[in-house]
Amino acid sequence: MTLKDHLPHVHLHGGDHHSSDNEDKGPAGSSESGHSTGAKSGKAKFLRRMISRGTKSDDEEEGDVAAVAGSRALYEPELVIELPPAADFHVHLRDGEMMETVTPTIEKGGVNLVYVMPNLVPPVTDPETAIAYMAKLQRLSPNTTFLPTLYLHPSITPATVAHAARHGIVGIKSYPRGLTTNSDSGVLSYEQFYPVFQAMSDHGLVLNLHGECPSTPAEDVAGIDDQDITILNAEAKFLPTLLSIHAAFPDLRIVLEHCTTADAVEAVRTCGPTVAGTITAHHLFLTIDHWADDPFCYCKPVAKLPADRAALLAAASSGDPKFFLGTDSAPHPRLAKQGRASGTAKTVAGVFTQPYAVQLVAEAFDKVGKADRETLEGFCCRHGREFYRVAEKGLEDAGKEKRRIVLMKGMGEKVVGEVGNGDSGVVPFRAGEEVWSLEWKE
Ligand SMILES: [Zn+2]
Repeated sequence: MTLKDHLPHVHLHGGDHHSSDNEDKGPAGSSESGHSTGAKSGKAKFLRRMISRGTKSDDEEEGDVAAVAGSRALYEPELVIELPPAADFHVHLRDGEMMETVTPTIEKGGVNLVYVMPNLVPPVTDPETAIAYMAKLQRLSPNTTFLPTLYLHPSITPATVAHAARHGIVGIKSYPRGLTTNSDSGVLSYEQFYPVFQAMSDHGLVLNLHGECPSTPAEDVAGIDDQDITILNAEAKFLPTLLSIHAAFPDLRIVLEHCTTADAVEAVRTCGPTVAGTITAHHLFLTIDHWADDPFCYCKPVAKLPADRAALLAAASSGDPKFFLGTDSAPHPRLAKQGRASGTAKTVAGVFTQPYAVQLVAEAFDKVGKADRETLEGFCCRHGREFYRVAEKGLEDAGKEKRRIVLMKGMGEKVVGEVGNGDSGVVPFRAGEEVWSLEWKE
């Protein structure tokens, strides 16, 4: 099955945004020739030859294969892993045209259950709005289960929590004020929400923490001491807050979202079983050096040091049920990422991984010899569902889902250059680079 089958709006773009480290890797998901594969019998024969040989072409043929293939898989797989459908416990699906572009890509990434972030404009702060939003998403991806959340906001009271629980709201997401996309309504101090946290604990709602402290103001040149906060230590500085909320509400289930440091992994491990951590796919690949000169690798929290990345990969592939997949896939229009949308020349935080969610995790696990069914199934499919008590609470109709996902390594597929087009065209993470393939099996 091709990417095009999954993505009604897909527009394959050449992927010319990338820096020199991509330039030697052949045409990036070239579109025009990709659509004409079947029309050129010479090329079709060439492809059949490649497939029947079950081997990669030599260097001079490589460009040709990539150009013809676009996103198509060409080769016999080096490795095949079959899994139940995955769950992604941290997605941004936006609204309007962007929602229509990215929501249909959930299945392409091997996922049939998503936990949907509430940072729309205005933020989703009441159950009725959340449920109406889920209905819009459901129309765009009928086979996906969408779990609704609310945005932690001063308008939310213990009574709101009780009301939300009755209406099937699964959790509440806290954003520190001004820290990331659409967080202007975010939290300044956590103590004011303690009555809300108590109600969440009583009603079984999950608290999702964006675990970063706001930076010291950049113009504050005199304040150079160990209290200073930048995007590099913003997560580490937040961890005492996690520990204090957990100490005050030991029964409240808390997720430290998108862990990016060895310290965060350690903090999650230190807490009791009611505290878990999500890990994204892209943080298994990135370090500071990637995002320093590439807006398409820039997100919040930013990727940290190689040792942090290694700690994330070790935690994700450890089999520890405290860690599970939450991609934090966060689409922004290409122009906004390139600082060409608002006139400020600044980029926006967010890496888009949705169509390749499980494929990327498998590739990362493979680098440490952990791309086996058991380990992948734990991190991508099972641990999150268990933590959220998906079966116990009847949040998905698991008996209805007969399909499986099949991961294949080494099929020659490349990440498309762009998903969607026009103002909502989004450049996926690692556009133009080779990626594992994934198919759904009925
Ligand atoms: Zn997020």
